[in-house]
Amino acid sequence: MAFLEVIGSDGGKQPGSHLVSMRLGPSVLIDAGSGSSLRDTELAEIEMVLITHAHLDHIVELGFIADATVSFRDRPIRVAASHACLEAIRTHYMNDLVWPDFARIRTSTGFAIVYEELEDERWLPLPGGVAVMPVPVNHGAGARGFLLRSETGSAIYTGDTGPTTRLWEQASKLPDLKFIVAEVSFPDRMQDVAIASDHLTPEMLAHELSLLEGVQVPVYAFHLKPWFRQEIDRDLARRFSDRAVLLMRGDRLLF
Ligand SMILES: [Zn+2]
Ligand SMILES: [Zn+2]
Repeated sequence: MAFLEVIGSDGGKQPGSHLVSMRLGPSVLIDAGSGSSLRDTELAEIEMVLITHAHLDHIVELGFIADATVSFRDRPIRVAASHACLEAIRTHYMNDLVWPDFARIRTSTGFAIVYEELEDERWLPLPGGVAVMPVPVNHGAGARGFLLRSETGSAIYTGDTGPTTRLWEQASKLPDLKFIVAEVSFPDRMQDVAIASDHLTPEMLAHELSLLEGVQVPVYAFHLKPWFRQEIDRDLARRFSDRAVLLMRGDRLLF
C-alpha cells in the first residue's frame, strides 16, 4: 500500500499556510511549494520531485531543496515534469542568475539535480513501487495532472486546472480508484475569476466529477485560496455533503 502525505495544501500565502507539496511514499515529492520544511532525514530520502507545472507556488522551494540536499546527499535528485515546465524552471529560475543552476553543480557522484521530461499518458514507474501517468490539464505553465497507481489501488491528483476533459477520460480507466485529490481554488461566487485563471470552484468541480460516471470515492480538496477557506468549505459541503473534505498539512491518504 502507498501513501500520499500532505506537506502543504494551500493555494496562497498567509501566516500559517503552506504551499502545495505532497510526499508520495518516502522517496517522491509531488510539487515543491513547501517541500524544504521536511526534516533533513526525510529530505535525504527524496529521490525524485514530480512537478505539476511551473507556477511559483509549486516550484518555489525546489531551489531550497537542492541547496539543502547537496550537502548531505551523494546522488542527484531527479526533477520530472513536462517539457514546457522544465524549460520554464531552467530558463527563469535555476539559471545561475535568480538561483544557482543545480543541474551543473556537482556532488561527489554527479550533478545535484537531473531533469527528466515526462511523457504524457504513459505509466512511469517511480521509486517505492508506485507508478504515475501525467495527463495534460487546462492551466498553462506546462500543467499536468497525475494519475497514481500502487499495487493495491489508484488515485487522481488534478494539480492546478480549470475545466478539463482528458484527465477524466484517462481516470475512468483506473482500476480500484481510492480517492481524488482535486484543486478547488475559489468559492462558487467567484466563478468568473476561477475561469479567467484556469481554476475550479466547488460547483465547477462537481461538474468535472460528473464526467466520471458512477464514481463515488472520497474527494480531498486542496489549493484553496486561504482567504476564502470557510466559504469554499461551505460551498463544498452544499455540493458534496460528506464526500468532500479539505486536505490539511499532515494528512496521510492510503491507496
Ligand atoms: Zn498554477
Ligand atoms: Zn498553484
